[in-house]
Amino acid sequence: MTLILTDVTLTYPDGDTRLTALDRVSLDVPAGTLTAVVGPSGSGKSSLLAVAATLVTPDHGHVVVAGTQTDGLSSADKAALRRDHVGIIFQQPHLLPSLTAVEQLQVMTHLSRRSVRASRPRALDLLDAVGLADKADRRPHQLSGGQRQRINIARALMNEPAVLLVDEPTSALDHERGAAVLDLLLGLTRERSTATVMVTHDRAHLDRVDGTVGMEDGRLSVSTPV
Ligand code: ADP
Ligand code: MG
Repeated sequence: MTLILTDVTLTYPDGDTRLTALDRVSLDVPAGTLTAVVGPSGSGKSSLLAVAATLVTPDHGHVVVAGTQTDGLSSADKAALRRDHVGIIFQQPHLLPSLTAVEQLQVMTHLSRRSVRASRPRALDLLDAVGLADKADRRPHQLSGGQRQRINIARALMNEPAVLLVDEPTSALDHERGAAVLDLLLGLTRERSTATVMVTHDRAHLDRVDGTVGMEDGRLSVSTPV
């Protein structure tokens, strides 16, 4: 299962005119690979992820998520597609302060109307996969920034997404922790065969990803060597 964007253009209202956030963007991300999209602030990276996630409908172009052509889908169908097939890792973890680490993951199951109690083994397995097996009962204030980001990543994998979209996951971390988070994302992409897109303004650590494309003023450039 892959993620395919074809000739996607997205504009936002901007006074009397419109601002072009994405300009004829095409991107094909095979399962089990991680593509990095690198560009400065304001170049359209988050917009690209929002369109890939079907959170925002582009003006033109096509988005295929895990084999489903999303043109013309109702918002309910898009919500169901996101819930079942898309994992989104936002820049900020947005953890719920009152929940323990394992409960943060189990909330995802609640949203998909599966049994929350039955989800505990999977949540614990994912915490183990991100190196937090021994922190399952901690609440966010008892965890470091890097640990909270790992929970954010594990939570996005709870519903076994085919497509994983990651927005600047290392921006709030130091160099060493940033490298560890990228290693983790690469390992999970391979193990769980996700089609992963990671956007970042930071070219550090990108030597091991499967592909790197540059983004500037809403346009993607051909693969650039890191
Ligand atoms: P990046 O993630 O690379 O910083 P964004 O995708 O957030 O870039 O933004 C791309 C451009 O679109 C910027 O000029 C930004 O100001 C503009 N933009 C983003 N979101 C909106 C919005 N909801 N309404 C209007 N303009 C927006
Ligand atoms: Mg952004």
